[in-house]
Amino acid sequence: MTIAPSLPADVKPRLTAEINARRDDLIALTQDLIRIPTVNPPGNNYREICEYLAGRLSKGGYAVELIRAEGKPGDSDKYPRWNVVARREGAGPGDTVHFNSHHDVVEVGRGWTFDPFGGELKDGRIYGRGTCDMKGGLAASIIAAEAFADVVPDYRGAIEISGTADEETGGFGGVAYLAEQGYFSPERVQHVIIPEPLNKDRICLGHRGVWWAEIETFGRIAHGSMPFLGDSAIRHMAAVLRQFEDVLYPALSQKRTEMPVVPPGARQSTMNINSIHGGQAEPEGGFTGFPAPVVAHSARIVIDRRYLIEESPVAVRQEVIDLLEKLKAERLGFSYEIRDLWTISPTMTEKDAPVVRSVAKAIGEVIGVSPEYVVSPGTYDQKHIDRIGRLKNCIAYGPGILDLAHQPDEWVGVDDMLDSAKVMALTLLDLLGPDRAA
Ligand SMILES: [Zn+2]
Repeated sequence: MTIAPSLPADVKPRLTAEINARRDDLIALTQDLIRIPTVNPPGNNYREICEYLAGRLSKGGYAVELIRAEGKPGDSDKYPRWNVVARREGAGPGDTVHFNSHHDVVEVGRGWTFDPFGGELKDGRIYGRGTCDMKGGLAASIIAAEAFADVVPDYRGAIEISGTADEETGGFGGVAYLAEQGYFSPERVQHVIIPEPLNKDRICLGHRGVWWAEIETFGRIAHGSMPFLGDSAIRHMAAVLRQFEDVLYPALSQKRTEMPVVPPGARQSTMNINSIHGGQAEPEGGFTGFPAPVVAHSARIVIDRRYLIEESPVAVRQEVIDLLEKLKAERLGFSYEIRDLWTISPTMTEKDAPVVRSVAKAIGEVIGVSPEYVVSPGTYDQKHIDRIGRLKNCIAYGPGILDLAHQPDEWVGVDDMLDSAKVMALTLLDLLGPDRAA
Protein backbone atom coordinates (compact mmCIF):
# COMPACT_ATOMS: atom_id res chain seq x y z
CA MET A 1 0.00 0.00 0.00
CA THR A 2 1.30 3.46 -0.88
CA ILE A 3 0.50 6.55 1.13
CA ALA A 4 -0.15 9.57 -1.07
CA PRO A 5 1.82 12.64 0.02
CA SER A 6 -0.24 15.30 1.74
CA LEU A 7 -0.31 18.83 0.35
CA PRO A 8 1.22 21.78 2.18
CA ALA A 9 -1.52 23.54 4.12
CA ASP A 10 -0.98 26.84 2.33
CA VAL A 11 -1.25 25.50 -1.23
CA LYS A 12 -4.67 27.04 -1.88
CA PRO A 13 -3.79 30.57 -0.69
CA ARG A 14 -0.58 30.31 -2.70
CA LEU A 15 -2.53 29.37 -5.83
CA THR A 16 -4.93 32.29 -5.48
CA ALA A 17 -2.07 34.70 -4.68
CA GLU A 18 -0.20 33.43 -7.73
CA ILE A 19 -3.23 34.12 -9.94
CA ASN A 20 -3.72 37.60 -8.47
CA ALA A 21 -0.05 38.31 -9.24
CA ARG A 22 -0.73 37.47 -12.90
CA ARG A 23 -3.45 40.07 -13.36
CA ASP A 24 -1.41 42.11 -15.88
CA ASP A 25 -0.40 38.98 -17.75
CA LEU A 26 -4.06 37.91 -17.96
CA ILE A 27 -5.06 41.32 -19.34
CA ALA A 28 -2.25 41.35 -21.90
CA LEU A 29 -3.00 37.79 -22.99
CA THR A 30 -6.70 38.55 -23.47
CA GLN A 31 -5.86 41.71 -25.41
CA ASP A 32 -3.43 39.83 -27.66
CA LEU A 33 -6.12 37.26 -28.47
CA ILE A 34 -8.71 39.96 -29.23
CA ARG A 35 -6.27 41.70 -31.57
CA ILE A 36 -6.15 38.63 -33.81
CA PRO A 37 -9.53 38.97 -35.57
CA THR A 38 -10.70 35.40 -36.07
CA VAL A 39 -14.07 36.28 -37.57
CA ASN A 40 -16.13 33.30 -38.70
CA PRO A 41 -17.46 33.08 -41.31
CA PRO A 42 -15.24 33.02 -43.23
CA GLY A 43 -12.65 31.93 -40.64
CA ASN A 44 -9.91 34.59 -40.66
CA ASN A 45 -6.47 34.26 -39.05
CA TYR A 46 -6.96 30.78 -37.61
CA ARG A 47 -3.32 29.91 -38.29
CA GLU A 48 -2.15 33.12 -36.63
CA ILE A 49 -4.08 32.58 -33.41
CA CYS A 50 -3.02 28.92 -33.21
CA GLU A 51 0.62 29.90 -33.67
CA TYR A 52 0.26 32.56 -30.99
CA LEU A 53 -1.21 30.04 -28.54
CA ALA A 54 1.39 27.43 -29.49
CA GLY A 55 4.18 29.91 -28.77
CA ARG A 56 2.76 30.86 -25.42
CA LEU A 57 2.04 27.33 -24.27
CA SER A 58 5.26 25.73 -25.49
CA LYS A 59 7.17 28.22 -23.34
CA GLY A 60 5.25 26.83 -20.37
CA GLY A 61 6.33 23.25 -21.03
CA TYR A 62 3.45 22.11 -23.22
CA ALA A 63 3.88 19.76 -26.17
CA VAL A 64 1.95 21.52 -28.91
CA GLU A 65 0.24 20.25 -32.06
CA LEU A 66 -1.28 22.34 -34.84
CA ILE A 67 -4.00 20.35 -36.57
CA ARG A 68 -5.82 21.34 -39.74
CA ALA A 69 -9.28 19.86 -40.34
CA GLU A 70 -8.63 19.30 -44.01
CA GLY A 71 -11.68 18.81 -46.15
CA LYS A 72 -14.15 19.66 -43.40
CA PRO A 73 -16.91 22.23 -44.05
CA GLY A 74 -15.37 25.66 -44.65
CA ASP A 75 -11.80 24.36 -45.02
CA SER A 76 -9.91 25.71 -48.04
CA ASP A 77 -6.39 26.86 -48.77
CA LYS A 78 -7.63 30.42 -48.37
CA TYR A 79 -9.45 29.67 -45.09
CA PRO A 80 -7.79 26.62 -43.54
CA ARG A 81 -9.45 25.27 -40.38
CA TRP A 82 -6.56 25.27 -37.89
CA ASN A 83 -6.75 23.97 -34.33
CA VAL A 84 -4.16 23.84 -31.58
CA VAL A 85 -3.90 21.15 -28.90
CA ALA A 86 -1.34 21.51 -26.11
CA ARG A 87 -0.54 18.92 -23.45
CA ARG A 88 1.61 19.21 -20.34
CA GLU A 89 2.51 16.00 -18.56
CA GLY A 90 2.63 15.87 -14.78
CA ALA A 91 5.04 14.06 -12.51
CA GLY A 92 3.18 10.75 -12.37
CA PRO A 93 0.22 8.81 -13.69
CA GLY A 94 -3.22 10.29 -13.27
CA ASP A 95 -6.17 11.81 -15.08
CA THR A 96 -6.10 14.36 -17.90
CA VAL A 97 -8.02 17.60 -17.52
CA HIS A 98 -8.75 19.35 -20.81
CA PHE A 99 -9.76 23.00 -21.24
CA ASN A 100 -11.36 23.51 -24.63
CA SER A 101 -12.03 26.98 -26.03
CA HIS A 102 -13.12 27.94 -29.50
CA HIS A 103 -10.91 30.63 -31.02
CA ASP A 104 -13.40 31.88 -33.62
CA VAL A 105 -15.65 34.90 -33.09
CA VAL A 106 -18.77 36.12 -34.86
CA GLU A 107 -18.93 39.16 -37.12
CA VAL A 108 -18.73 42.63 -35.59
CA GLY A 109 -22.14 44.00 -36.57
CA ARG A 110 -23.19 47.59 -35.94
CA GLY A 111 -23.41 49.71 -32.81
CA TRP A 112 -19.88 49.61 -31.40
CA THR A 113 -18.40 52.50 -29.45
CA PHE A 114 -15.09 50.63 -28.89
CA ASP A 115 -12.70 49.27 -31.51
CA PRO A 116 -13.94 45.68 -31.80
CA PHE A 117 -10.39 44.40 -32.24
CA GLY A 118 -8.61 46.89 -29.99
CA GLY A 119 -8.92 45.05 -26.68
CA GLU A 120 -9.28 48.31 -24.78
CA LEU A 121 -9.19 48.10 -20.98
CA LYS A 122 -11.56 50.50 -19.25
CA ASP A 123 -12.86 50.43 -15.67
CA GLY A 124 -11.85 46.83 -15.14
CA ARG A 125 -13.41 45.57 -18.36
CA ILE A 126 -11.78 44.50 -21.61
CA TYR A 127 -13.84 45.36 -24.68
CA GLY A 128 -13.84 43.66 -28.05
CA ARG A 129 -15.39 40.98 -30.23
CA GLY A 130 -14.79 37.67 -28.50
CA THR A 131 -13.82 39.05 -25.08
CA CYS A 132 -16.80 37.34 -23.47
CA ASP A 133 -17.38 34.59 -26.07
CA MET A 134 -14.82 33.29 -25.38
CA LYS A 135 -11.25 34.52 -25.53
CA GLY A 136 -11.55 35.77 -21.94
CA GLY A 137 -12.34 32.22 -20.86
CA LEU A 138 -9.46 30.86 -22.92
CA ALA A 139 -7.05 33.34 -21.31
CA ALA A 140 -8.38 32.52 -17.82
CA SER A 141 -7.81 28.80 -18.37
CA ILE A 142 -4.24 29.39 -19.58
CA ILE A 143 -3.41 31.55 -16.55
CA ALA A 144 -5.03 28.99 -14.22
CA ALA A 145 -3.04 26.11 -15.71
CA GLU A 146 0.26 28.05 -15.70
CA ALA A 147 -0.16 29.15 -12.09
CA PHE A 148 -1.11 25.62 -11.07
CA ALA A 149 1.93 24.05 -12.74
CA ASP A 150 4.22 26.58 -11.02
CA VAL A 151 2.75 26.13 -7.54
CA VAL A 152 2.16 22.37 -7.79
CA PRO A 153 4.94 21.15 -10.10
CA ASP A 154 4.57 17.54 -8.94
CA TYR A 155 0.93 17.23 -10.04
CA ARG A 156 -0.34 13.94 -11.43
CA GLY A 157 -1.72 13.16 -14.88
CA ALA A 158 -1.77 15.86 -17.55
CA ILE A 159 -3.28 19.21 -18.44
CA GLU A 160 -4.48 19.90 -21.95
CA ILE A 161 -5.51 23.22 -23.48
CA SER A 162 -7.03 23.49 -26.93
CA GLY A 163 -8.03 26.38 -29.16
CA THR A 164 -10.48 25.13 -31.75
CA ALA A 165 -12.12 26.39 -34.92
CA ASP A 166 -15.65 26.97 -36.04
CA GLU A 167 -17.73 26.57 -32.86
CA GLU A 168 -19.88 29.43 -34.10
CA THR A 169 -20.67 27.49 -37.27
CA GLY A 170 -21.19 24.03 -35.81
CA GLY A 171 -17.68 22.99 -34.79
CA PHE A 172 -17.22 20.47 -37.61
CA GLY A 173 -13.75 21.77 -38.47
CA GLY A 174 -12.91 22.09 -34.78
CA VAL A 175 -13.95 19.91 -31.86
CA ALA A 176 -15.88 17.44 -34.04
CA TYR A 177 -12.77 16.83 -36.14
CA LEU A 178 -10.51 16.46 -33.10
CA ALA A 179 -13.02 14.08 -31.50
CA GLU A 180 -13.00 11.96 -34.67
CA GLN A 181 -9.21 11.83 -34.42
CA GLY A 182 -9.43 10.53 -30.84
CA TYR A 183 -8.43 13.69 -28.98
CA PHE A 184 -11.47 13.44 -26.71
CA SER A 185 -11.56 9.70 -26.21
CA PRO A 186 -12.06 8.60 -22.58
CA GLU A 187 -8.73 6.79 -22.77
CA ARG A 188 -6.91 10.07 -23.39
CA VAL A 189 -9.00 12.67 -21.55
CA GLN A 190 -11.10 12.16 -18.42
CA HIS A 191 -12.38 15.68 -17.60
CA VAL A 192 -13.34 18.49 -19.98
CA ILE A 193 -14.11 22.09 -19.09
CA ILE A 194 -15.30 24.43 -21.84
CA PRO A 195 -14.82 28.03 -20.60
CA GLU A 196 -17.86 29.45 -22.41
CA PRO A 197 -19.30 32.60 -20.77
CA LEU A 198 -21.81 31.09 -18.35
CA ASN A 199 -20.95 33.41 -15.42
CA LYS A 200 -18.34 32.55 -12.81
CA ASP A 201 -20.78 30.96 -10.35
CA ARG A 202 -22.73 28.74 -12.76
CA ILE A 203 -21.97 25.28 -14.09
CA CYS A 204 -23.50 24.42 -17.43
CA LEU A 205 -24.26 20.71 -17.59
CA GLY A 206 -25.29 20.48 -21.23
CA HIS A 207 -27.78 21.64 -23.80
CA ARG A 208 -31.11 20.83 -25.47
CA GLY A 209 -31.29 18.84 -28.68
CA VAL A 210 -31.72 20.25 -32.18
CA TRP A 211 -33.49 19.09 -35.30
CA TRP A 212 -33.36 21.23 -38.44
CA ALA A 213 -35.39 20.32 -41.48
CA GLU A 214 -36.63 21.86 -44.69
CA ILE A 215 -40.24 21.29 -45.69
CA GLU A 216 -41.33 21.92 -49.26
CA THR A 217 -44.90 22.02 -50.55
CA PHE A 218 -45.70 21.72 -54.23
CA GLY A 219 -48.24 23.33 -56.52
CA ARG A 220 -48.84 23.77 -60.23
CA ILE A 221 -47.84 26.92 -62.05
CA ALA A 222 -50.56 28.90 -63.87
CA HIS A 223 -51.47 32.47 -64.78
CA GLY A 224 -52.05 34.59 -61.69
CA SER A 225 -55.32 35.97 -63.11
CA MET A 226 -56.72 32.42 -63.21
CA PRO A 227 -55.33 30.82 -60.06
CA PHE A 228 -58.08 28.18 -60.17
CA LEU A 229 -56.27 26.69 -63.20
CA GLY A 230 -53.17 26.11 -61.07
CA ASP A 231 -52.54 25.05 -57.51
CA SER A 232 -50.70 27.33 -55.09
CA ALA A 233 -47.81 25.84 -53.14
CA ILE A 234 -47.97 28.93 -50.89
CA ARG A 235 -51.57 28.20 -49.87
CA HIS A 236 -50.52 24.63 -49.11
CA MET A 237 -47.70 25.97 -46.99
CA ALA A 238 -50.17 28.27 -45.24
CA ALA A 239 -52.10 25.14 -44.28
CA VAL A 240 -48.91 23.70 -42.82
CA LEU A 241 -48.34 26.87 -40.81
CA ARG A 242 -51.94 26.77 -39.59
CA GLN A 243 -51.36 23.23 -38.31
CA PHE A 244 -48.27 24.51 -36.51
CA GLU A 245 -50.23 27.35 -34.91
CA ASP A 246 -53.30 25.32 -33.98
CA VAL A 247 -51.76 21.97 -33.08
CA LEU A 248 -47.97 21.91 -32.85
CA TYR A 249 -47.16 25.06 -30.88
CA PRO A 250 -49.78 24.36 -28.19
CA ALA A 251 -48.41 20.81 -27.91
CA LEU A 252 -44.81 22.05 -27.63
CA SER A 253 -45.70 24.46 -24.83
CA GLN A 254 -47.00 21.48 -22.82
CA LYS A 255 -43.68 19.63 -23.05
CA ARG A 256 -41.77 20.75 -19.97
CA THR A 257 -38.32 19.58 -18.95
CA GLU A 258 -36.51 18.72 -15.77
CA MET A 259 -33.38 20.19 -17.40
CA PRO A 260 -32.47 23.50 -15.64
CA VAL A 261 -32.41 25.42 -18.93
CA VAL A 262 -31.76 29.16 -18.79
CA PRO A 263 -33.53 31.39 -19.57
CA PRO A 264 -36.64 29.67 -18.13
CA GLY A 265 -38.60 30.36 -21.32
CA ALA A 266 -36.48 27.65 -22.93
CA ARG A 267 -37.50 25.08 -20.29
CA GLN A 268 -39.92 23.58 -22.81
CA SER A 269 -39.84 22.38 -26.40
CA THR A 270 -39.56 25.21 -28.90
CA MET A 271 -39.56 25.61 -32.64
CA ASN A 272 -38.46 28.52 -34.79
CA ILE A 273 -39.24 28.90 -38.46
CA ASN A 274 -35.92 30.16 -39.76
CA SER A 275 -37.06 31.11 -43.23
CA ILE A 276 -39.89 30.96 -45.71
CA HIS A 277 -39.65 31.13 -49.47
CA GLY A 278 -42.38 30.62 -52.02
CA GLY A 279 -43.10 31.38 -55.64
CA GLN A 280 -40.76 33.53 -57.64
CA ALA A 281 -37.22 34.06 -56.49
CA GLU A 282 -36.39 37.52 -55.15
CA PRO A 283 -35.20 39.71 -58.04
CA GLU A 284 -31.54 40.66 -58.11
CA GLY A 285 -30.57 43.99 -56.55
CA GLY A 286 -31.11 46.85 -58.97
CA PHE A 287 -34.01 45.23 -60.80
CA THR A 288 -36.75 47.86 -61.04
CA GLY A 289 -39.53 45.90 -62.74
CA PHE A 290 -42.58 44.17 -61.31
CA PRO A 291 -43.10 40.49 -60.55
CA ALA A 292 -44.92 38.32 -63.09
CA PRO A 293 -48.39 36.91 -62.38
CA VAL A 294 -47.80 33.24 -61.67
CA VAL A 295 -49.16 30.72 -59.23
CA ALA A 296 -46.39 29.38 -56.97
CA HIS A 297 -45.32 25.85 -57.78
CA SER A 298 -43.03 25.54 -54.73
CA ALA A 299 -42.81 26.87 -51.19
CA ARG A 300 -40.19 26.02 -48.59
CA ILE A 301 -39.62 26.60 -44.92
CA VAL A 302 -36.69 25.71 -42.68
CA ILE A 303 -37.62 24.72 -39.15
CA ASP A 304 -35.39 24.74 -36.07
CA ARG A 305 -36.88 22.46 -33.45
CA ARG A 306 -35.18 22.43 -30.02
CA TYR A 307 -36.02 19.38 -27.99
CA LEU A 308 -35.68 18.07 -24.47
CA ILE A 309 -33.80 15.21 -22.90
CA GLU A 310 -37.22 13.67 -22.15
CA GLU A 311 -38.03 13.50 -25.90
CA SER A 312 -36.72 11.12 -28.55
CA PRO A 313 -35.52 12.47 -31.89
CA VAL A 314 -37.73 9.93 -33.68
CA ALA A 315 -40.85 11.20 -31.89
CA VAL A 316 -39.87 14.82 -32.48
CA ARG A 317 -39.67 14.19 -36.21
CA GLN A 318 -42.80 12.01 -36.30
CA GLU A 319 -44.86 14.75 -34.66
CA VAL A 320 -44.26 16.99 -37.69
CA ILE A 321 -44.67 14.14 -40.20
CA ASP A 322 -48.05 13.28 -38.66
CA LEU A 323 -49.32 16.81 -39.28
CA LEU A 324 -48.09 16.74 -42.87
CA GLU A 325 -49.65 13.32 -43.48
CA LYS A 326 -52.94 14.54 -42.04
CA LEU A 327 -52.92 17.39 -44.55
CA LYS A 328 -52.07 14.98 -47.33
CA ALA A 329 -55.10 12.90 -46.43
CA GLU A 330 -57.49 15.81 -46.01
CA ARG A 331 -56.38 18.53 -48.39
CA LEU A 332 -56.89 18.28 -52.15
CA GLY A 333 -53.65 18.44 -54.13
CA PHE A 334 -51.41 18.59 -51.06
CA SER A 335 -47.98 17.05 -51.48
CA TYR A 336 -44.75 17.68 -49.65
CA GLU A 337 -41.16 16.67 -49.13
CA ILE A 338 -39.18 16.91 -45.94
CA ARG A 339 -35.38 17.01 -45.87
CA ASP A 340 -33.46 16.58 -42.66
CA LEU A 341 -30.65 19.14 -42.42
CA TRP A 342 -28.96 18.22 -39.15
CA THR A 343 -29.73 16.88 -35.75
CA ILE A 344 -27.94 16.96 -32.41
CA SER A 345 -29.00 14.98 -29.36
CA PRO A 346 -29.55 16.73 -26.05
CA THR A 347 -26.78 16.19 -23.54
CA MET A 348 -26.64 16.68 -19.79
CA THR A 349 -23.77 15.64 -17.53
CA GLU A 350 -24.78 14.17 -14.17
CA LYS A 351 -24.45 16.55 -11.22
CA ASP A 352 -22.31 14.02 -9.37
CA ALA A 353 -19.84 13.59 -12.24
CA PRO A 354 -16.25 14.17 -11.03
CA VAL A 355 -15.62 17.38 -12.95
CA VAL A 356 -18.93 18.86 -11.76
CA ARG A 357 -18.19 18.02 -8.13
CA SER A 358 -14.69 19.52 -8.31
CA VAL A 359 -15.79 22.76 -9.98
CA ALA A 360 -18.72 23.11 -7.57
CA LYS A 361 -16.39 22.74 -4.59
CA ALA A 362 -13.96 25.29 -6.06
CA ILE A 363 -16.77 27.81 -6.70
CA GLY A 364 -17.71 27.47 -3.03
CA GLU A 365 -14.12 28.09 -1.95
CA VAL A 366 -13.40 31.02 -4.30
CA ILE A 367 -16.73 32.80 -4.57
CA GLY A 368 -18.42 31.60 -1.40
CA VAL A 369 -21.66 30.40 -3.00
CA SER A 370 -23.10 27.10 -4.15
CA PRO A 371 -23.10 27.05 -7.92
CA GLU A 372 -26.23 27.34 -9.97
CA TYR A 373 -26.56 24.36 -12.32
CA VAL A 374 -27.82 25.35 -15.74
CA VAL A 375 -28.42 23.92 -19.19
CA SER A 376 -27.94 25.94 -22.36
CA PRO A 377 -30.93 26.52 -24.68
CA GLY A 378 -28.62 26.23 -27.72
CA THR A 379 -25.83 23.79 -28.42
CA TYR A 380 -22.08 24.24 -28.15
CA ASP A 381 -19.09 21.98 -28.63
CA GLN A 382 -20.05 19.63 -25.77
CA LYS A 383 -22.23 17.80 -28.32
CA HIS A 384 -19.17 16.54 -30.21
CA ILE A 385 -17.27 15.58 -27.07
CA ASP A 386 -20.26 13.56 -25.87
CA ARG A 387 -21.34 11.95 -29.14
CA ILE A 388 -18.10 11.49 -31.09
CA GLY A 389 -15.64 11.55 -28.21
CA ARG A 390 -17.87 9.34 -25.98
CA LEU A 391 -16.84 11.47 -23.00
CA LYS A 392 -19.66 12.37 -20.60
CA ASN A 393 -17.60 14.06 -17.90
CA CYS A 394 -17.76 17.49 -19.55
CA ILE A 395 -19.19 20.89 -18.59
CA ALA A 396 -19.09 24.50 -19.64
CA TYR A 397 -17.69 26.82 -17.00
CA GLY A 398 -16.12 30.21 -17.58
CA PRO A 399 -16.18 33.97 -16.98
CA GLY A 400 -18.35 36.46 -18.81
CA ILE A 401 -22.04 37.23 -19.02
CA LEU A 402 -23.79 35.05 -21.57
CA ASP A 403 -26.17 37.81 -22.68
CA LEU A 404 -23.20 39.90 -23.91
CA ALA A 405 -22.11 37.24 -26.38
CA HIS A 406 -22.37 38.39 -30.02
CA GLN A 407 -23.49 41.91 -28.91
CA PRO A 408 -21.90 45.26 -29.78
CA ASP A 409 -19.43 46.51 -27.12
CA GLU A 410 -18.97 42.95 -25.86
CA TRP A 411 -16.78 42.90 -22.74
CA VAL A 412 -15.38 40.67 -20.05
CA GLY A 413 -14.58 41.74 -16.49
CA VAL A 414 -10.97 41.30 -15.34
CA ASP A 415 -12.04 40.36 -11.79
CA ASP A 416 -14.45 37.77 -13.16
CA MET A 417 -11.65 36.26 -15.24
CA LEU A 418 -9.41 36.15 -12.17
CA ASP A 419 -12.12 34.51 -10.06
CA SER A 420 -12.85 31.86 -12.63
CA ALA A 421 -9.11 31.25 -13.14
CA LYS A 422 -8.93 30.57 -9.38
CA VAL A 423 -11.86 28.16 -9.65
CA MET A 424 -10.11 26.39 -12.53
CA ALA A 425 -6.80 26.18 -10.64
CA LEU A 426 -8.50 24.74 -7.53
CA THR A 427 -10.31 22.28 -9.78
CA LEU A 428 -6.94 21.17 -11.17
CA LEU A 429 -5.68 20.77 -7.63
CA ASP A 430 -8.70 18.65 -6.75
CA LEU A 431 -8.42 16.43 -9.82
CA LEU A 432 -4.65 16.26 -10.32
CA GLY A 433 -3.16 17.13 -6.92
CA PRO A 434 -0.17 15.01 -5.87
CA ASP A 435 -2.13 13.92 -2.80
CA ARG A 436 -4.46 11.92 -5.02
CA ALA A 437 -3.72 8.23 -4.81
CA ALA A 438 -2.68 6.79 -8.17
ZN1 LIG B 1 -18.84 30.58 -27.57
